[in-house]
Amino acid sequence: LYGKQRINSAGLNLSDLEVLSGLQQYLEPFKIQTWHAAPLVNGRVYAGIEQQIINPAYSQQIVGHVTDSDTKAIADAISIAADATQHWRLSAVNKRVTYLLKAAELLEENRLELVALCVREAGKTIKDALDEVREAVDFCRYYAQSAQELFAQPLTLPGPTGEQNLLYQYGRGVFVCISPWNFPIAIFIGQVTAALASGNTVIAKPAKQTPLIAMRCIQLLHQAGIPKDVLHFLPGDGVTVGRYLLSDQRISGVAFTGSLTTARVINQQLAQLPGIIPLIAETGGQNVMIADSSAHSEQLIMDAVQSAFNSAGQRCSALRVLYIPHANADNIISRIIGVMQQLVVADPQDFTTDIGPVISMDAARQLREHVETLREHASILFQMQLDKSLNKGCFFPPTLIELSSLEQLTKENFGPVLHVIRYHSNELEQLITDINSSGYGLTMGIHSRIHSTINTLVKNSKVGNIYINRNMISAVVGVQPFGGTGLSGTGPKAGGPNYLQRFTNEQTLTTNT
Ligand code: NAP
Repeated sequence: LYGKQRINSAGLNLSDLEVLSGLQQYLEPFKIQTWHAAPLVNGRVYAGIEQQIINPAYSQQIVGHVTDSDTKAIADAISIAADATQHWRLSAVNKRVTYLLKAAELLEENRLELVALCVREAGKTIKDALDEVREAVDFCRYYAQSAQELFAQPLTLPGPTGEQNLLYQYGRGVFVCISPWNFPIAIFIGQVTAALASGNTVIAKPAKQTPLIAMRCIQLLHQAGIPKDVLHFLPGDGVTVGRYLLSDQRISGVAFTGSLTTARVINQQLAQLPGIIPLIAETGGQNVMIADSSAHSEQLIMDAVQSAFNSAGQRCSALRVLYIPHANADNIISRIIGVMQQLVVADPQDFTTDIGPVISMDAARQLREHVETLREHASILFQMQLDKSLNKGCFFPPTLIELSSLEQLTKENFGPVLHVIRYHSNELEQLITDINSSGYGLTMGIHSRIHSTINTLVKNSKVGNIYINRNMISAVVGVQPFGGTGLSGTGPKAGGPNYLQRFTNEQTLTTNT
Protein backbone atom coordinates (compact mmCIF):
# COMPACT_ATOMS: atom_id res chain seq x y z
CA LEU A 1 0.00 0.00 0.00
CA TYR A 2 2.73 2.38 0.84
CA GLY A 3 6.12 2.59 -0.87
CA LYS A 4 9.13 2.66 1.43
CA GLN A 5 10.18 6.10 0.25
CA ARG A 6 7.83 8.91 1.29
CA ILE A 7 8.46 12.12 -0.63
CA ASN A 8 7.21 15.51 0.55
CA SER A 9 4.75 17.25 -1.77
CA ALA A 10 6.41 19.18 -4.59
CA GLY A 11 6.12 22.96 -4.89
CA LEU A 12 5.75 25.17 -7.94
CA ASN A 13 8.60 27.24 -9.37
CA LEU A 14 7.03 30.68 -9.11
CA SER A 15 10.10 32.36 -10.58
CA ASP A 16 9.22 30.67 -13.91
CA LEU A 17 7.02 33.20 -15.72
CA GLU A 18 5.15 30.50 -17.62
CA VAL A 19 4.22 28.69 -14.39
CA LEU A 20 3.22 32.00 -12.86
CA SER A 21 0.95 33.13 -15.67
CA GLY A 22 -0.61 29.64 -15.89
CA LEU A 23 -1.38 29.74 -12.19
CA GLN A 24 -2.81 33.25 -12.50
CA GLN A 25 -5.12 32.08 -15.26
CA TYR A 26 -6.32 29.00 -13.34
CA LEU A 27 -6.99 31.04 -10.18
CA GLU A 28 -9.02 33.67 -12.03
CA PRO A 29 -12.47 31.92 -11.97
CA PHE A 30 -12.25 31.44 -8.18
CA LYS A 31 -12.05 35.21 -7.62
CA ILE A 32 -15.82 35.51 -7.93
CA GLN A 33 -16.87 32.14 -6.49
CA THR A 34 -18.57 31.96 -3.10
CA TRP A 35 -18.59 28.98 -0.75
CA HIS A 36 -20.83 27.64 1.99
CA ALA A 37 -20.18 25.92 5.30
CA ALA A 38 -22.59 24.31 7.75
CA PRO A 39 -22.63 21.55 10.34
CA LEU A 40 -22.02 18.26 8.56
CA VAL A 41 -23.04 15.32 10.73
CA ASN A 42 -23.16 11.78 9.36
CA GLY A 43 -23.05 13.35 5.89
CA ARG A 44 -26.13 15.48 6.51
CA VAL A 45 -25.87 19.26 6.14
CA TYR A 46 -27.73 21.09 8.93
CA ALA A 47 -29.59 24.22 7.90
CA GLY A 48 -29.87 27.37 10.00
CA ILE A 49 -29.24 31.09 10.09
CA GLU A 50 -26.37 32.03 7.81
CA GLN A 51 -23.62 34.51 8.52
CA GLN A 52 -21.28 36.14 6.04
CA ILE A 53 -17.61 35.34 5.82
CA ILE A 54 -15.73 38.44 4.68
CA ASN A 55 -12.42 38.68 2.84
CA PRO A 56 -9.95 40.26 5.31
CA ALA A 57 -8.35 42.15 2.41
CA TYR A 58 -11.69 43.75 1.34
CA SER A 59 -14.27 44.37 4.03
CA GLN A 60 -16.96 44.65 1.34
CA GLN A 61 -16.29 41.30 -0.28
CA ILE A 62 -18.29 38.24 0.78
CA VAL A 63 -16.39 34.96 0.37
CA GLY A 64 -19.25 32.79 1.51
CA HIS A 65 -21.73 31.98 4.23
CA VAL A 66 -21.64 29.78 7.31
CA THR A 67 -24.33 28.23 9.45
CA ASP A 68 -23.17 27.79 13.03
CA SER A 69 -23.77 24.51 14.85
CA ASP A 70 -26.74 24.43 17.19
CA THR A 71 -27.13 22.10 20.17
CA LYS A 72 -28.99 19.52 18.03
CA ALA A 73 -26.11 19.26 15.56
CA ILE A 74 -23.61 18.98 18.43
CA ALA A 75 -25.63 16.31 20.22
CA ASP A 76 -26.10 14.31 16.99
CA ALA A 77 -22.40 14.53 16.17
CA ILE A 78 -21.40 13.19 19.57
CA SER A 79 -23.94 10.33 19.51
CA ILE A 80 -23.10 9.17 16.00
CA ALA A 81 -19.33 9.55 16.51
CA ALA A 82 -19.58 7.58 19.77
CA ASP A 83 -21.60 4.79 18.09
CA ALA A 84 -19.04 4.55 15.29
CA THR A 85 -15.99 4.18 17.55
CA GLN A 86 -16.09 0.38 17.74
CA HIS A 87 -16.15 -0.33 14.00
CA TRP A 88 -13.54 2.32 13.25
CA ARG A 89 -11.24 1.37 16.14
CA LEU A 90 -11.16 -2.21 14.87
CA SER A 91 -11.04 -1.30 11.16
CA ALA A 92 -8.08 -2.64 9.17
CA VAL A 93 -5.20 -0.19 9.29
CA ASN A 94 -4.71 -0.68 5.54
CA LYS A 95 -8.19 0.71 4.97
CA ARG A 96 -7.42 3.89 6.92
CA VAL A 97 -4.10 4.23 5.10
CA THR A 98 -5.83 3.89 1.72
CA TYR A 99 -8.30 6.65 2.61
CA LEU A 100 -5.56 9.02 3.73
CA LEU A 101 -3.48 8.43 0.62
CA LYS A 102 -6.57 9.09 -1.49
CA ALA A 103 -7.21 12.28 0.52
CA ALA A 104 -3.67 13.46 -0.29
CA GLU A 105 -4.38 12.90 -3.99
CA LEU A 106 -7.68 14.80 -3.80
CA LEU A 107 -6.08 17.73 -1.96
CA GLU A 108 -3.49 17.95 -4.72
CA GLU A 109 -6.14 17.66 -7.45
CA ASN A 110 -8.17 20.46 -5.85
CA ARG A 111 -5.16 22.56 -5.00
CA LEU A 112 -6.16 25.60 -7.06
CA GLU A 113 -9.58 25.95 -5.48
CA LEU A 114 -8.10 25.50 -1.99
CA VAL A 115 -5.40 28.09 -2.69
CA ALA A 116 -7.90 30.61 -4.03
CA LEU A 117 -10.22 30.08 -1.07
CA CYS A 118 -7.37 30.28 1.45
CA VAL A 119 -6.21 33.58 -0.07
CA ARG A 120 -9.70 35.07 0.07
CA GLU A 121 -10.90 33.64 3.38
CA ALA A 122 -7.68 33.76 5.45
CA GLY A 123 -5.86 36.58 3.61
CA LYS A 124 -2.84 34.39 2.87
CA THR A 125 -0.49 35.16 -0.01
CA ILE A 126 -0.64 32.76 -2.93
CA LYS A 127 2.75 31.30 -2.04
CA ASP A 128 1.70 30.74 1.60
CA ALA A 129 -1.56 29.14 0.46
CA LEU A 130 0.28 26.80 -1.93
CA ASP A 131 2.59 25.82 0.94
CA GLU A 132 -0.41 25.11 3.15
CA VAL A 133 -1.88 22.65 0.71
CA ARG A 134 1.52 20.96 0.38
CA GLU A 135 1.77 20.65 4.17
CA ALA A 136 -1.72 19.18 4.38
CA VAL A 137 -0.83 16.63 1.69
CA ASP A 138 2.34 15.79 3.61
CA PHE A 139 0.36 15.25 6.83
CA CYS A 140 -1.98 12.79 5.08
CA ARG A 141 0.91 10.79 3.63
CA TYR A 142 3.09 10.97 6.74
CA TYR A 143 0.35 9.84 9.13
CA ALA A 144 -0.69 7.12 6.67
CA GLN A 145 2.86 5.83 6.69
CA SER A 146 3.15 6.18 10.49
CA ALA A 147 -0.14 4.32 11.02
CA GLN A 148 1.00 1.47 8.85
CA GLU A 149 4.34 1.22 10.66
CA LEU A 150 2.89 1.58 14.16
CA PHE A 151 -0.51 -0.08 14.12
CA ALA A 152 -0.68 -2.69 11.34
CA GLN A 153 0.89 -5.33 13.56
CA PRO A 154 1.08 -5.53 17.35
CA LEU A 155 4.51 -5.29 18.91
CA THR A 156 5.75 -8.70 20.04
CA LEU A 157 7.62 -8.45 23.33
CA PRO A 158 9.97 -11.11 24.70
CA GLY A 159 8.71 -13.07 27.74
CA PRO A 160 9.15 -16.43 29.48
CA THR A 161 8.90 -19.60 27.40
CA GLY A 162 5.30 -20.69 26.91
CA GLU A 163 3.96 -17.18 26.97
CA GLN A 164 3.18 -14.76 24.14
CA ASN A 165 3.14 -10.99 24.85
CA LEU A 166 1.65 -8.61 22.33
CA LEU A 167 1.21 -4.83 22.60
CA TYR A 168 -1.66 -3.35 20.56
CA GLN A 169 -2.59 0.29 19.99
CA TYR A 170 -6.19 1.29 19.35
CA GLY A 171 -8.02 4.56 18.85
CA ARG A 172 -9.22 6.10 22.12
CA GLY A 173 -12.76 6.84 20.92
CA VAL A 174 -14.22 10.23 19.93
CA PHE A 175 -11.51 12.83 19.38
CA VAL A 176 -12.45 16.51 19.22
CA CYS A 177 -10.12 18.51 16.95
CA ILE A 178 -10.12 22.30 17.48
CA SER A 179 -8.01 24.36 15.11
CA PRO A 180 -6.95 27.99 14.53
CA TRP A 181 -7.49 30.24 11.51
CA ASN A 182 -3.82 30.87 10.76
CA PHE A 183 -3.26 27.43 9.15
CA PRO A 184 -6.83 26.69 8.11
CA ILE A 185 -5.83 23.84 5.78
CA ALA A 186 -2.61 22.37 7.16
CA ILE A 187 -3.36 22.31 10.90
CA PHE A 188 -7.01 21.46 10.33
CA ILE A 189 -6.11 18.48 8.12
CA GLY A 190 -3.12 17.55 10.31
CA GLN A 191 -5.15 17.17 13.50
CA VAL A 192 -8.04 15.38 11.84
CA THR A 193 -5.94 12.90 9.86
CA ALA A 194 -3.75 12.08 12.88
CA ALA A 195 -6.82 11.26 14.95
CA LEU A 196 -8.41 9.22 12.13
CA ALA A 197 -5.21 7.35 11.27
CA SER A 198 -4.95 6.26 14.92
CA GLY A 199 -8.44 4.79 14.85
CA ASN A 200 -10.51 7.58 16.44
CA THR A 201 -13.78 8.96 15.22
CA VAL A 202 -13.51 12.73 14.86
CA ILE A 203 -15.53 15.87 15.50
CA ALA A 204 -13.76 18.80 13.85
CA LYS A 205 -14.37 22.38 14.99
CA PRO A 206 -12.68 24.97 12.73
CA ALA A 207 -11.90 28.57 13.69
CA LYS A 208 -14.87 30.90 13.19
CA GLN A 209 -12.89 32.98 10.67
CA THR A 210 -12.16 30.04 8.32
CA PRO A 211 -15.05 27.55 8.19
CA LEU A 212 -15.38 27.56 4.38
CA ILE A 213 -12.01 26.06 3.65
CA ALA A 214 -12.44 23.59 6.51
CA MET A 215 -15.76 22.42 5.03
CA ARG A 216 -14.06 21.80 1.66
CA CYS A 217 -11.39 19.76 3.43
CA ILE A 218 -14.03 17.63 5.17
CA GLN A 219 -15.84 17.05 1.87
CA LEU A 220 -12.58 15.87 0.30
CA LEU A 221 -11.89 13.53 3.23
CA HIS A 222 -15.37 12.01 2.84
CA GLN A 223 -14.82 11.74 -0.90
CA ALA A 224 -11.58 9.89 -0.15
CA GLY A 225 -13.59 7.22 1.65
CA ILE A 226 -13.56 8.25 5.32
CA PRO A 227 -16.98 6.99 6.50
CA LYS A 228 -19.54 9.72 7.17
CA ASP A 229 -20.36 8.38 10.65
CA VAL A 230 -16.66 8.58 11.56
CA LEU A 231 -15.94 12.22 10.63
CA HIS A 232 -18.21 15.14 11.60
CA PHE A 233 -17.89 18.89 11.20
CA LEU A 234 -19.16 21.53 13.64
CA PRO A 235 -18.47 25.15 12.66
CA GLY A 236 -19.42 27.90 15.09
CA ASP A 237 -18.22 30.09 17.89
CA GLY A 238 -15.59 28.31 19.99
CA VAL A 239 -17.01 29.25 23.37
CA THR A 240 -20.54 28.13 22.46
CA VAL A 241 -19.64 24.92 20.62
CA GLY A 242 -16.92 24.17 23.19
CA ARG A 243 -19.33 24.53 26.10
CA TYR A 244 -21.57 21.68 24.81
CA LEU A 245 -18.99 19.54 23.10
CA LEU A 246 -16.41 19.48 25.87
CA SER A 247 -18.88 18.81 28.64
CA ASP A 248 -19.99 15.47 27.18
CA GLN A 249 -18.45 12.47 28.86
CA ARG A 250 -18.46 10.45 25.64
CA ILE A 251 -15.47 12.38 24.24
CA SER A 252 -12.15 10.59 24.69
CA GLY A 253 -9.55 13.20 23.73
CA VAL A 254 -9.01 16.73 22.44
CA ALA A 255 -6.42 17.92 19.93
CA PHE A 256 -6.25 21.71 20.18
CA THR A 257 -4.10 24.32 18.43
CA GLY A 258 -4.59 27.97 19.29
CA SER A 259 -3.87 30.46 22.03
CA LEU A 260 -2.66 29.66 25.54
CA THR A 261 -5.74 31.37 26.97
CA THR A 262 -8.09 29.01 25.13
CA ALA A 263 -5.98 25.96 25.99
CA ARG A 264 -6.36 26.83 29.67
CA VAL A 265 -10.14 27.21 29.34
CA ILE A 266 -10.40 23.83 27.59
CA ASN A 267 -8.15 22.20 30.19
CA GLN A 268 -10.37 23.48 32.99
CA GLN A 269 -13.48 22.35 31.20
CA LEU A 270 -12.14 18.83 30.67
CA ALA A 271 -11.21 18.66 34.34
CA GLN A 272 -14.94 18.86 35.18
CA LEU A 273 -15.63 15.55 33.42
CA PRO A 274 -15.62 12.34 35.44
CA GLY A 275 -13.03 10.70 33.16
CA ILE A 276 -9.44 11.84 32.64
CA ILE A 277 -9.53 13.20 29.11
CA PRO A 278 -6.15 13.77 27.41
CA LEU A 279 -5.56 17.19 25.87
CA ILE A 280 -2.96 17.66 23.15
CA ALA A 281 -2.46 21.43 23.09
CA GLU A 282 -0.23 23.44 20.77
CA THR A 283 -0.22 27.10 21.73
CA GLY A 284 1.60 30.37 21.14
CA GLY A 285 5.12 31.62 21.75
CA GLN A 286 7.36 34.59 22.48
CA ASN A 287 9.92 33.53 19.92
CA VAL A 288 13.40 35.02 19.88
CA MET A 289 16.38 34.99 17.55
CA ILE A 290 19.82 35.57 19.05
CA ALA A 291 22.60 36.86 16.84
CA ASP A 292 26.18 37.29 17.98
CA SER A 293 28.96 39.34 16.40
CA SER A 294 30.11 36.35 14.30
CA ALA A 295 26.75 36.14 12.50
CA HIS A 296 26.73 36.51 8.72
CA SER A 297 24.90 39.82 8.71
CA GLU A 298 23.34 39.57 5.23
CA GLN A 299 21.83 36.18 6.05
CA LEU A 300 20.77 37.29 9.53
CA ILE A 301 18.86 40.26 8.16
CA MET A 302 17.02 38.26 5.49
CA ASP A 303 16.20 35.48 7.95
CA ALA A 304 14.99 37.91 10.62
CA VAL A 305 12.77 39.81 8.18
CA GLN A 306 11.29 36.62 6.72
CA SER A 307 10.73 35.08 10.16
CA ALA A 308 9.02 38.19 11.52
CA PHE A 309 6.96 39.38 8.57
CA ASN A 310 6.11 36.42 6.30
CA SER A 311 2.40 35.56 6.58
CA ALA A 312 1.97 39.04 8.15
CA GLY A 313 3.66 37.67 11.29
CA GLN A 314 0.67 35.42 11.88
CA ARG A 315 2.60 32.22 12.39
CA CYS A 316 2.98 30.71 15.83
CA SER A 317 6.65 30.19 14.94
CA ALA A 318 7.18 33.83 13.87
CA LEU A 319 10.07 35.84 15.25
CA ARG A 320 8.98 38.40 17.84
CA VAL A 321 12.27 39.51 19.44
CA LEU A 322 15.68 39.80 17.81
CA TYR A 323 18.68 40.07 20.14
CA ILE A 324 21.65 41.82 18.56
CA PRO A 325 25.06 42.69 20.02
CA HIS A 326 25.56 46.38 20.92
CA ALA A 327 28.61 46.66 18.66
CA ASN A 328 26.67 45.78 15.46
CA ALA A 329 23.23 47.00 16.46
CA ASP A 330 23.00 50.33 14.60
CA ASN A 331 24.25 48.76 11.40
CA ILE A 332 21.91 45.75 11.59
CA ILE A 333 18.89 47.87 12.50
CA SER A 334 19.38 50.31 9.64
CA ARG A 335 19.73 47.41 7.17
CA ILE A 336 16.60 45.68 8.54
CA ILE A 337 14.73 48.93 7.98
CA GLY A 338 16.16 49.03 4.44
CA VAL A 339 14.70 45.58 3.71
CA MET A 340 11.39 46.42 5.40
CA GLN A 341 11.03 49.43 3.09
CA GLN A 342 11.07 47.03 0.13
CA LEU A 343 8.26 44.81 1.44
CA VAL A 344 5.08 44.90 -0.61
CA VAL A 345 1.98 45.08 1.58
CA ALA A 346 -1.01 44.61 -0.71
CA ASP A 347 -3.87 42.42 -1.89
CA PRO A 348 -2.72 38.81 -1.40
CA GLN A 349 -4.28 37.89 -4.74
CA ASP A 350 -1.38 39.74 -6.42
CA PHE A 351 1.66 37.59 -7.00
CA THR A 352 4.01 40.43 -6.04
CA THR A 353 2.53 40.77 -2.53
CA ASP A 354 4.85 39.90 0.37
CA ILE A 355 2.42 40.71 3.16
CA GLY A 356 -1.35 40.48 3.10
CA PRO A 357 -3.88 41.57 5.70
CA VAL A 358 -4.13 40.40 9.29
CA ILE A 359 -7.14 38.21 9.95
CA SER A 360 -9.63 40.81 11.25
CA MET A 361 -10.20 44.42 12.20
CA ASP A 362 -10.03 43.29 15.81
CA ALA A 363 -6.56 41.76 15.26
CA ALA A 364 -5.40 45.03 13.65
CA ARG A 365 -6.82 47.00 16.60
CA GLN A 366 -4.96 44.84 19.12
CA LEU A 367 -1.69 45.38 17.24
CA ARG A 368 -2.31 49.14 17.13
CA GLU A 369 -2.91 49.14 20.88
CA HIS A 370 0.28 47.17 21.44
CA VAL A 371 2.35 49.70 19.49
CA GLU A 372 0.65 52.63 21.23
CA THR A 373 1.32 51.13 24.67
CA LEU A 374 4.99 50.66 23.85
CA ARG A 375 5.33 54.16 22.37
CA GLU A 376 5.71 55.52 25.93
CA HIS A 377 8.46 53.16 27.09
CA ALA A 378 10.16 51.91 23.93
CA SER A 379 11.30 53.39 20.67
CA ILE A 380 9.39 52.85 17.44
CA LEU A 381 12.27 52.54 14.98
CA PHE A 382 10.22 52.15 11.82
CA GLN A 383 6.65 51.75 10.73
CA MET A 384 5.74 51.40 7.10
CA GLN A 385 3.31 53.90 5.57
CA LEU A 386 0.51 51.95 3.95
CA ASP A 387 -1.27 52.99 0.80
CA LYS A 388 -4.69 54.52 1.56
CA SER A 389 -6.37 51.95 -0.73
CA LEU A 390 -5.62 49.34 1.96
CA ASN A 391 -7.99 51.03 4.41
CA LYS A 392 -10.75 48.85 2.96
CA GLY A 393 -9.12 45.78 4.49
CA CYS A 394 -7.53 44.62 7.76
CA PHE A 395 -3.97 45.64 6.96
CA PHE A 396 -1.34 46.45 9.54
CA PRO A 397 1.99 48.09 8.68
CA PRO A 398 5.21 46.15 9.35
CA THR A 399 6.72 47.75 12.44
CA LEU A 400 10.13 47.64 14.15
CA ILE A 401 10.37 48.52 17.85
CA GLU A 402 13.40 48.67 20.14
CA LEU A 403 12.86 47.36 23.69
CA SER A 404 15.14 47.58 26.68
CA SER A 405 14.05 44.21 28.04
CA LEU A 406 11.90 41.20 27.19
CA GLU A 407 9.71 41.94 30.21
CA GLN A 408 8.15 44.78 28.23
CA LEU A 409 6.24 42.14 26.27
CA THR A 410 3.47 40.78 28.41
CA LYS A 411 1.74 38.65 25.75
CA GLU A 412 2.11 37.17 22.29
CA ASN A 413 1.57 39.90 19.65
CA PHE A 414 0.25 38.07 16.62
CA GLY A 415 1.17 40.21 13.62
CA PRO A 416 3.93 41.95 11.66
CA VAL A 417 5.71 43.60 14.59
CA LEU A 418 9.38 42.86 15.25
CA HIS A 419 11.08 43.92 18.48
CA VAL A 420 14.84 44.25 18.89
CA ILE A 421 16.92 44.23 22.06
CA ARG A 422 20.63 45.11 22.24
CA TYR A 423 22.90 43.06 24.49
CA HIS A 424 26.57 42.86 25.54
CA SER A 425 28.41 39.60 24.89
CA ASN A 426 28.93 39.01 28.63
CA GLU A 427 25.14 39.06 29.13
CA LEU A 428 24.41 35.86 27.20
CA GLU A 429 23.65 33.78 30.29
CA GLN A 430 21.27 36.39 31.71
CA LEU A 431 19.60 36.62 28.36
CA ILE A 432 18.86 32.88 28.31
CA THR A 433 17.46 33.16 31.84
CA ASP A 434 15.20 36.03 30.70
CA ILE A 435 13.98 34.09 27.66
CA ASN A 436 13.28 30.93 29.65
CA SER A 437 11.48 32.91 32.33
CA SER A 438 8.83 34.00 29.81
CA GLY A 439 7.60 30.40 30.21
CA TYR A 440 6.99 30.01 26.47
CA GLY A 441 9.10 27.57 24.49
CA LEU A 442 8.07 27.32 20.85
CA THR A 443 10.76 28.39 18.37
CA MET A 444 14.18 30.02 18.62
CA GLY A 445 16.70 31.18 16.05
CA ILE A 446 20.46 31.38 16.51
CA HIS A 447 22.79 33.24 14.18
CA SER A 448 26.40 32.53 15.10
CA ARG A 449 29.43 30.78 13.72
CA ILE A 450 30.93 30.07 17.15
CA HIS A 451 30.21 26.48 18.16
CA SER A 452 30.56 27.05 21.90
CA THR A 453 27.97 29.87 21.77
CA ILE A 454 25.58 27.74 19.74
CA ASN A 455 26.03 24.82 22.17
CA THR A 456 25.42 27.01 25.23
CA LEU A 457 22.22 28.43 23.72
CA VAL A 458 20.92 25.06 22.55
CA LYS A 459 21.64 23.26 25.84
CA ASN A 460 20.13 25.93 28.09
CA SER A 461 17.07 27.01 26.12
CA LYS A 462 13.74 25.41 26.96
CA VAL A 463 12.26 25.52 23.50
CA GLY A 464 10.70 23.03 21.07
CA ASN A 465 12.23 24.00 17.72
CA ILE A 466 15.66 25.61 17.27
CA TYR A 467 16.88 26.92 13.92
CA ILE A 468 20.57 27.68 13.47
CA ASN A 469 21.78 30.11 10.79
CA ARG A 470 18.49 30.06 8.86
CA ASN A 471 14.98 31.44 9.20
CA MET A 472 12.76 29.96 11.89
CA ILE A 473 9.51 29.31 10.03
CA SER A 474 8.05 26.66 7.68
CA ALA A 475 8.70 23.37 9.50
CA VAL A 476 8.54 20.46 7.05
CA VAL A 477 6.38 17.41 7.92
CA GLY A 478 8.45 14.34 8.76
CA VAL A 479 11.63 16.40 8.58
CA GLN A 480 11.24 19.04 11.29
CA PRO A 481 8.58 17.75 13.71
CA PHE A 482 6.94 20.84 15.19
CA GLY A 483 5.70 21.79 18.65
CA GLY A 484 6.54 23.64 21.82
CA THR A 485 7.19 23.07 25.49
CA GLY A 486 6.16 24.93 28.65
CA LEU A 487 3.39 27.44 27.94
CA SER A 488 3.72 26.68 24.22
CA GLY A 489 2.31 23.19 24.28
CA THR A 490 1.92 19.75 25.75
CA GLY A 491 3.68 18.00 22.89
CA PRO A 492 4.00 15.60 21.08
CA LYS A 493 5.29 17.15 17.88
CA ALA A 494 3.03 17.33 14.85
CA GLY A 495 4.58 15.70 11.79
CA GLY A 496 6.94 13.66 13.98
CA PRO A 497 7.41 9.96 14.77
CA ASN A 498 5.85 10.14 18.26
CA TYR A 499 2.65 11.97 17.38
CA LEU A 500 0.10 9.28 16.59
CA GLN A 501 0.77 7.26 19.75
CA ARG A 502 -0.78 10.09 21.78
CA PHE A 503 -4.09 9.49 20.05
CA THR A 504 -4.23 5.83 21.10
CA ASN A 505 -4.80 3.50 24.04
CA GLU A 506 -2.40 0.60 24.47
CA GLN A 507 -3.51 -2.94 25.26
CA THR A 508 -1.18 -5.71 26.36
CA LEU A 509 -2.28 -9.24 25.49
CA THR A 510 -0.52 -12.02 27.38
CA THR A 511 -1.35 -15.59 26.34
CA ASN A 512 -0.24 -18.84 27.95
CA THR A 513 0.62 -20.87 24.84
P1 NAP B 1 -7.82 30.80 19.63
O1 NAP B 1 -8.57 32.06 19.73
O2 NAP B 1 -7.32 30.17 20.87
O3 NAP B 1 -8.78 29.79 18.84
C1 NAP B 1 -8.36 28.50 18.46
C2 NAP B 1 -9.57 27.60 18.31
O4 NAP B 1 -10.16 27.41 19.60
C3 NAP B 1 -10.66 28.21 17.44
O5 NAP B 1 -11.28 27.20 16.70
C4 NAP B 1 -11.61 28.79 18.47
O6 NAP B 1 -12.92 28.98 18.01
C5 NAP B 1 -11.56 27.72 19.52
N1 NAP B 1 -12.04 28.14 20.82
C6 NAP B 1 -12.03 29.36 21.38
N2 NAP B 1 -12.58 29.33 22.63
C7 NAP B 1 -12.93 28.04 22.84
C8 NAP B 1 -13.53 27.35 23.94
N3 NAP B 1 -13.86 27.99 25.06
N4 NAP B 1 -13.75 26.03 23.83
C9 NAP B 1 -13.41 25.37 22.71
N5 NAP B 1 -12.83 25.96 21.63
C10 NAP B 1 -12.59 27.28 21.71
O7 NAP B 1 -6.56 30.97 18.66
P2 NAP B 1 -6.52 31.64 17.21
O8 NAP B 1 -6.59 33.10 17.37
O9 NAP B 1 -7.49 30.96 16.32
O10 NAP B 1 -5.06 31.20 16.70
C11 NAP B 1 -3.92 31.93 16.98
C12 NAP B 1 -3.16 31.29 18.13
O11 NAP B 1 -2.83 29.95 17.80
C13 NAP B 1 -1.84 31.97 18.43
O12 NAP B 1 -1.66 32.02 19.82
C14 NAP B 1 -0.81 31.04 17.80
O13 NAP B 1 0.49 31.16 18.35
C15 NAP B 1 -1.44 29.71 18.06
N6 NAP B 1 -0.94 28.68 17.14
C16 NAP B 1 -0.11 27.72 17.63
C17 NAP B 1 0.41 26.76 16.78
C18 NAP B 1 1.36 25.69 17.27
O14 NAP B 1 1.59 24.72 16.55
N7 NAP B 1 1.91 25.81 18.46
C19 NAP B 1 0.07 26.79 15.42
C20 NAP B 1 -0.79 27.77 14.97
C21 NAP B 1 -1.30 28.71 15.83
P3 NAP B 1 -13.38 30.45 17.49
O15 NAP B 1 -12.55 30.72 16.31
O16 NAP B 1 -14.79 30.29 17.20
O17 NAP B 1 -13.10 31.40 18.61
